[in-house]
Amino acid sequence: MKEIKATMDKVVNLCKTRGLIYPGSDIYGGMGNTWDYGPVGVEFKNNIKRTWWKRFVQENPNSYGVDAAILMNSRVWDASGHTSSFSDPKMDCKNCKTRHRADNLIESNSKGKVNADALSTEEMQTYIEEHKVACPHCGKFDWTPIRQFNLMFETSRGVTDEGTNKIYLRPETAQGEFVNFLNVQRTTRAKVPFGIAQIGKAFRNEITPGNFIFRTIEFEQMEHQWFCKAGEDEKYYNEFKEKALKYVLDLGIDESHLRFHDHDKLAHYARAACDIQYLFPMGWNELNGIHNRSDYDLSRHQEFSGKSMLYTDPFTNEKFVPNVIEYSIGADRLTLALLCEAYDEETLENGETRVVMHFHPAIAPYKVAILPLQKNLGDKAKEVFALLSKEFMCDYDEAGSIGKRYRRQDEIGTPYCVTIDFETLENGTVTIRDRDSMEQIRINISDLANYVNEKIKFN
Ligand code: ATP
Repeated sequence: MKEIKATMDKVVNLCKTRGLIYPGSDIYGGMGNTWDYGPVGVEFKNNIKRTWWKRFVQENPNSYGVDAAILMNSRVWDASGHTSSFSDPKMDCKNCKTRHRADNLIESNSKGKVNADALSTEEMQTYIEEHKVACPHCGKFDWTPIRQFNLMFETSRGVTDEGTNKIYLRPETAQGEFVNFLNVQRTTRAKVPFGIAQIGKAFRNEITPGNFIFRTIEFEQMEHQWFCKAGEDEKYYNEFKEKALKYVLDLGIDESHLRFHDHDKLAHYARAACDIQYLFPMGWNELNGIHNRSDYDLSRHQEFSGKSMLYTDPFTNEKFVPNVIEYSIGADRLTLALLCEAYDEETLENGETRVVMHFHPAIAPYKVAILPLQKNLGDKAKEVFALLSKEFMCDYDEAGSIGKRYRRQDEIGTPYCVTIDFETLENGTVTIRDRDSMEQIRINISDLANYVNEKIKFN
């Protein structure tokens, strides 16, 4: 297995000091489990989202994007089952007043041997009592009974108190794709099978958020629903498993840090479900999910909205409610996985340690850093910046020794550093340094954009 050099502390610290991710509402002492992406982080996450969109929408003639409203008619959540059953089993420690998830307590008590997802509330209660599972915070065994806690954030709309309606911040983006099935199918004249994809914010009042951006109360999802005919669902489920795995491998995650995990307990409508897990610093955990959801979603919306979701096959005239294969991955969770995967500490010949983020160039926040060797080369360097920044994100840095500037760029994973020196003024050439090999070559300024564009492609 490829060695992992990242620890959560090192990654969090680097993110904070290098402008990737700061604690939310920082000057007010923060707000638990909210995080703000800084100048470097916003580029990184946007690039990740772009690679996903490219792979799953742009390169697929049968997939279409949407950007649906976060606030939806509450009936959507009745139809999807979220108002009745989108909950986690919570327990409070009466001694230290901390809140915990019963399923997590059981899984850590049994060292992963018991799959708490497969247990009912009563069975979980019995397990905790029989094994005297203590509070991980204070060590006491003094619990409230397990209660199912709905994870949706509620808010209200309307101008007067009497006239207000309860609405929810969406807990997933998927419903925005389901409710637009008819719109997209009709306006694009798409034929089943086809897909609808969306990237957007989701909100969950998680009982135990934490581990940096792994589990937060506000996060972004990248979701793709594939509408197909019953009978073809299994084939597409397997295809999406492969595509989802290939995507993260192509982003540079080592195969030994990824594994499939099949769900033992399936929702009553689901035919199959699995996660791809990543070996995060705190252990194996879900990175994304792939679900074969049968015709449940569209059938439920048909029932609750009264609109027919029947699709007529133009060749056979057969009418059916399409099945759905869902592929869902958190943009922030993937960001964390890619940060951990890229983190490296190398010992240099002079004995110094260099921290370097080996990001795939396509997702690197900045593609090139422009570094004038001396301040009086600044005019020429700014010319090069103006030229290259029309093509991709560039950083400009003239402060400190060239060695220190290289180190700063290594820490934010900039794949190329371009140095402007006196020879540049004479013959229009610059040195370009490769982040990973640290090798330098000399090339013409006029060739720079093509050179870099070739290297930063995500295919
Ligand atoms: P988990 O078991 O970790 O709570 P889940 O099975 O509830 O996740 P889904 O509802 O399938 O997750 O959501 C799809 C994806 O969205 C997950 O695979 C994950 O990448 C991301 N995700 C879910 N919840 C969160 C969260 N609270 N913070 C960040 N990302 C999340």
